[in-house]
Amino acid sequence: MEPLEDTGTAAPADSADAAATGGWRGWARVAADLVFPPSCVHCGDLVEASPLRMVCVACVPLLVRVEPPCCPCCGHPFFGEASGERLCVHCEGLRPEFGEGRTAVLFRGPARSLVHTLKYRQGLHVLGDMAKIVAANPHVADFLRGAVLVPVPLHGRKERERGYNQASEYVQALVSALGGATRCAAVLARVIDTQTQTSLDRAQRQANLKNAFALAPGVGINPELRYVLIDDVFTTGSTLNACAAVLRRAGALKVDVCTFGHG
Ligand SMILES: [Zn+2]
Ligand SMILES: [Zn+2]
Repeated sequence: MEPLEDTGTAAPADSADAAATGGWRGWARVAADLVFPPSCVHCGDLVEASPLRMVCVACVPLLVRVEPPCCPCCGHPFFGEASGERLCVHCEGLRPEFGEGRTAVLFRGPARSLVHTLKYRQGLHVLGDMAKIVAANPHVADFLRGAVLVPVPLHGRKERERGYNQASEYVQALVSALGGATRCAAVLARVIDTQTQTSLDRAQRQANLKNAFALAPGVGINPELRYVLIDDVFTTGSTLNACAAVLRRAGALKVDVCTFGHG
């Protein structure tokens, strides 16, 4: 598998980024980065002359872009194997409620560090890099362009604790990076504050998640639109599947999923 390609911008934060991330704030950030170069989220070294803002030049090649052939359900690559239409080991027994799934990078190395920084270390400053990595992968960018991107909702308590909703911030960053007719619609709500899922097996997660999501109040689903559920990481697919089921019950005919990282 080839490493993530250089996206063609040599400066740590270029002017297009600055404009895209909000006028003078963006320019202030560029100036601040020049005076105090940020440290790499993965190795801690200074980030200088990197195509990304928060990943250093030594760590950028460790980002592994996912390309076909992939599992049609979760997007995990089939390394050198014939793929056909079969699902991978991650998806056995999933019974997907969505059509297709894609993922941008393998969830390891700097990709894992970016997601952990976003979720656990007040890391909204990594969103530009995450969106750039997705936009640089045509297999995923083409899949998202023109669709209605739906963030997997956070429960209100978690959002209050964290101070931000990283899922919807990530989707907003994707919309800015992809442009065109792509848009964000927070059509789902998390109505049950499910316990942390990481220690549960698949059966427990599915039971826990069955009623956790609902359509957000006052929201309508347009069956003519294609909805793509967006999450940071594909683990068992249970959360995405529960969200897809809500969209389908509400009348959505085309529901796909896309994650930043997997594997
Ligand atoms: Zn590094
Ligand atoms: Zn799969």
